[in-house]
Amino acid sequence: MEKTPHIAIVPSPGMGHLIPLVEFAKRLKTNHNISATFIIPNDGPLSKSQIAFLDSLPDGLNYLILPPVNFDDLPQDIQMETRISLMVTRSLPSLRQVLKSLVAEKRLVALFIDLFGTDAFDVAIEFGVSPYVFFPSTAMALSLFLHLPKLDQEVSCEYRELQEPVQIPGCIPVRGQDLLDPVQDRKNDAYKWVLHNAKRYMMAEGIAVNSFKELEGGALKVLLEEEPGKPRVYPVGPLIQSGSSSDLDGSDCLRWLDSQPCGSVLYISFGSGGTLSSTQLNELAMGLELSEQRFLWVVRSPNDQPNATYFDSHGHNDPLGFLPKGFLERTKNTGFVIPSWAPQAQILSHSSTGGFLTHCGWNSILETVVHGVPVIAWPLYAEQKMNAVSLTEGLKVALRPKVGENGIVGRVEIARVVKGLLEGEEGKGIRSRIRDLKDAAANVLSKDGCSTKTLDQLASKLKNKN
Ligand code: UDP
Repeated sequence: MEKTPHIAIVPSPGMGHLIPLVEFAKRLKTNHNISATFIIPNDGPLSKSQIAFLDSLPDGLNYLILPPVNFDDLPQDIQMETRISLMVTRSLPSLRQVLKSLVAEKRLVALFIDLFGTDAFDVAIEFGVSPYVFFPSTAMALSLFLHLPKLDQEVSCEYRELQEPVQIPGCIPVRGQDLLDPVQDRKNDAYKWVLHNAKRYMMAEGIAVNSFKELEGGALKVLLEEEPGKPRVYPVGPLIQSGSSSDLDGSDCLRWLDSQPCGSVLYISFGSGGTLSSTQLNELAMGLELSEQRFLWVVRSPNDQPNATYFDSHGHNDPLGFLPKGFLERTKNTGFVIPSWAPQAQILSHSSTGGFLTHCGWNSILETVVHGVPVIAWPLYAEQKMNAVSLTEGLKVALRPKVGENGIVGRVEIARVVKGLLEGEEGKGIRSRIRDLKDAAANVLSKDGCSTKTLDQLASKLKNKN
């Protein structure tokens, strides 16, 4: 049997989970010689971006794809969290086979899951392997997860009907309707799955969270308090993707950025899954045009579901065909559009990029913080509204456009925030505050920084396992 400590990682589906887990594994390998196998649950072929990303894993990190689970019995409209949880739960028999051979061949010291994979803990425990969580979202969301079983007992109505904002331990108060999507309807299975997973977090030996003190001091302070039976929390962030997330070509947009003035371009992306309705896509295009600012926009085909491409970012239509008539021609001197997927890490680190209009996915936020790029917060689904609240009201590093009564952000409002961020007084303050966060991020990741030391502690705990 191999002597090198090895971990198994079961990511729940979605690039936003896979990317930080891979960064986490890369660090454990490079700094501590702990190797890893990614075990991928799925319900059909992986997306192009996932395959390209997994194929570029460095030495010491392997992956294997479990047989697809069958969802024929489920209704078409099940929520994302239900689908993700069931993908892991229904993969348990094949996961058991894989763990059995890993335990026989390697010194398997832990099994990590992310958000909704806690059912895999049972298999880990069966083989005497320690269960861990890697929480790829905010300390605020983690604090809510750990608090949710209590909240569920105390509150009888829907959280969105509460008169007072919800007080998540250590966090700024959040209105019920801004809490994460799956807790908005307590009768829906998605809520039951979140609660089920949240309760099982207590079974973990430790929880690594992709955050750091200067970003989420209040929530982390509470999470780090020791309590009997509560798993130890390890803030190891910000772990963001290094290099490209895929080998799909994005070099044209980087060349275009090279020819733009420093700090002048607004980058627009709604993450791996975000989609806008047709009316909203049209307003965004017109608003960008009206702002007369430079922009680089990752355009997806419109859809009335805000997360329509979560399981396959590339879609099947040509998204550019949905833009308003004449838009591309009229903005050809100031704008660049790229269909479906862009090399985000390189774009955010480019000196021409001066702002980021984002759906507030946590990886996108960490990436913008690490590169010091000011934000326009445009949350769509999952925990993104909570993230938008902390960015705008807590950290004050973002502007948030107002949604009109028809549920659409209008073109005039879009032009206002875009200009405000890139040219206005508000933008100046935001730029300065996000630069401070950028410095803090560099500091916690330095050789003696907090996150590096925390990861060292976690790694020694893992290495000391038999
Ligand atoms: N991403 C990218 N190119 C794209 C869209 C997304 O490289 O066109 C990457 C992005 O850099 C981030 C991840 O995909 O690392 C998206 O994660 P996030 O948490 O921001 O959002 P999610 O996709 O989970 O909603």
